[in-house]
Amino acid sequence: MSATILSGTDTARVVRAEVSDRVTALAERGKPVGLATILVGEDPGSHIYVRNKHRAAEEAGMVSRDRTLAATASQADVEALIMDLNADDAVDGMILQLPLPEGLDGEGAVEFIDPAKDADGLHPFNLGLLVQGRPGPLPATPGGIMRILDHYDIATAGQTAVVVGRSFLVGRPMALLLGQKGTDATVIQAHSRTPDLAAVCRQGDILVAAVGRAEMITADFVKPGAAVIDVGINRGEKGLVGDVDYDAVSEVAGAISPVPGGVGPMTIASLLANTVALAEARLD
Ligand code: NAP
Repeated sequence: MSATILSGTDTARVVRAEVSDRVTALAERGKPVGLATILVGEDPGSHIYVRNKHRAAEEAGMVSRDRTLAATASQADVEALIMDLNADDAVDGMILQLPLPEGLDGEGAVEFIDPAKDADGLHPFNLGLLVQGRPGPLPATPGGIMRILDHYDIATAGQTAVVVGRSFLVGRPMALLLGQKGTDATVIQAHSRTPDLAAVCRQGDILVAAVGRAEMITADFVKPGAAVIDVGINRGEKGLVGDVDYDAVSEVAGAISPVPGGVGPMTIASLLANTVALAEARLD
């Protein structure tokens, strides 16, 4: 079997065009849309992610602002910068690039972001809205994955979804979204303490891998015909690979997202979609 490729690049193109139209509509009402990023320290990967977010924001017609702090910045410095951006009327959404350097508390810092400017959808207030099934900015990566499933008409209702990973950034909100009313998957959340992970994963009509271990999901983890979403970003001898053994799993799965070109582009597209929605909400 040769699996359908779930292209995040193609899906992101559609989302980014929608965002651009909404940014233009706001501009016509005299409201530029502003996105600010906060980058702390010198991590090369984080620098690349932030640069890509700026490029995407500018292509969508947003005003993007880059705030950086040295790796020696204190928790108080990070929190003060967030407060500064909270008070800045030109900023509609902000992103604190995670993880922060060793010794700083990223989750603690996120709490300082005004929930109405939370482009990443990671503030505890917005995660609380998600738990309650109320509208709000969705965590960008799981929100982007939901859009990929929708774009490719992957059925969720009545299906079993297995999410491997339970981070607050990806795994937990992913499981909540798949199980929410209207989406209606039956969700199994697996993690490092799950016994016989392969057998658990094989129950999934949808399998989301958000672990951070290169190619750990092999073909024997996958139910024939399943839709497999690979969130992992692992850099090693082979270059950039996901958590899924792509070539072998493609022979078993019905659909699969590649790395690169899968979830990554959708994370950025979701950030932009959240930001324009926050800007619209501030104007209304
Ligand atoms: P994380 O915070 O390190 O969480 C990893 C999760 O995987 C944890 O819940 C952990 O379980 C689980 N895990 C670890 N080893 C396991 C094993 N052997 N079997 C089963 N579960 C295992 O990572 P994250 O922030 O969620 O990110 C996961 C991956 O996605 C990383 O590669 C990251 O770079 C990538 N990512 C990609 C994007 C994108 O846009 N494409 C966005 C965000 C993250 P415990 O809870 O039991 O420790």
